[in-house]
Amino acid sequence: MVNILVINAGSSSVKYQLINMEDESVIAKGLVERIGLDGSCLTHRPTGKDRFVLEKPMKNHGEGIQEVLKALVDKDHGVIPDLSSIKAIGHRVLHGGYRFTQPTIVDDEVLDGIRECIELGPLHNPANIKGIETCMELMPGVPNVAVFDTAFHQTMPDYAYLYAIPYEDYEKYKVRKYGFHGTSHRYITQTVLEYLGKAPEEVKLVSCHLGNGSSLAAVKDGKCIDTTMGLSPLEGLVMGTRSGDIDASAIPFLMKKHGMTADEVLTYLNKKSGVLGISGISSDFRDLESAAAEGNEMARTALNMFNYRIRKYIGAYAAAMDGIDVIAFAGGIGENDQDVRREVLEGLGFLGVKLDLEKNKTRGELKIISAPDSKVTVMIVPTNEELMIARETQALCM
Ligand code: AMP
Repeated sequence: MVNILVINAGSSSVKYQLINMEDESVIAKGLVERIGLDGSCLTHRPTGKDRFVLEKPMKNHGEGIQEVLKALVDKDHGVIPDLSSIKAIGHRVLHGGYRFTQPTIVDDEVLDGIRECIELGPLHNPANIKGIETCMELMPGVPNVAVFDTAFHQTMPDYAYLYAIPYEDYEKYKVRKYGFHGTSHRYITQTVLEYLGKAPEEVKLVSCHLGNGSSLAAVKDGKCIDTTMGLSPLEGLVMGTRSGDIDASAIPFLMKKHGMTADEVLTYLNKKSGVLGISGISSDFRDLESAAAEGNEMARTALNMFNYRIRKYIGAYAAAMDGIDVIAFAGGIGENDQDVRREVLEGLGFLGVKLDLEKNKTRGELKIISAPDSKVTVMIVPTNEELMIARETQALCM
């Protein structure tokens, strides 16, 4: 059996999947939560067996991942006889800076490179590094691959990724647009091409990853030429709790009004803004839609803002690519929310977009939802970042 373990380490959590690469099936998945806090807990879900929950103190990522490995080989809720069938480990790494343009096998030098990117991804990269170091220690000899959220976007031209600030700050500090959700946008691109049986050169795609965090990517010839997120995942679309695009001069203005520090204003823009900040109700679209249906005007406005910004960017990407052949919706909202898809696409008739309203009444299924005579193919593509990480890891290690 050729298995790949996929690890997504957060500041106090580790998500994992064990994938059998012979048929790309998930053999087990789970989550360690509250690492280093009271109430540490592992929830392990072996395919075809009962869920296993372990509540015990786990002081650090090492102790958490140790429990994951034990669970994988346990005689009752385990899924493999021993760890030797795990041929490689793929890690989600948030920020690869300008240096990492591809998934990379991790050695000491690569780890140093990921450490250098901590400044750009201060909330995620330290946890990602801990996950990698722990696996290197617990499973010596098994290759670890870092798969970067930013890598897919490294094909953007300079006029798309540069900010119009003094160029020396790009040279000195590498302040520029990087883009995120790259693993998802790559998976969506591959899936669209495969499903439609097209070559990369035949498709101008707008990939819409809409979840708690949301971003679009304009993909031409199979390569990203622009994306909505920037130096950090804050730029671009209106999101669950993030503002997306905002005039930079509003930031010092708000800092003065509220007496906020730089860190506080970032928390304000990342955690208290977006559809939550506008509606004052929730960041979850199910809550917003039921509130809007009951007549809550601010919930309606929040939804309108979310949909309008996506529509505007799709229009911009049509201009950037000289047309659009495919629009693909993914992520918790993109895959499940027919109202968002319908409202985003209203007003894009000039591009030749014609949604089939019946086909649009679908959740989480890979399918075409545009009318047969639509010039633009609209699709739902359930994304699968873990599988993409496993595929990239396999391609590098086997
Ligand atoms: P993600 O970050 O991709 O897991 O997406 C999470 C978000 O998807 C949630 O916060 C909800 O806003 C949204 N979502 C999930 N299921 C539905 C649904 N059935 N209808 C509308 N929105 C949904």
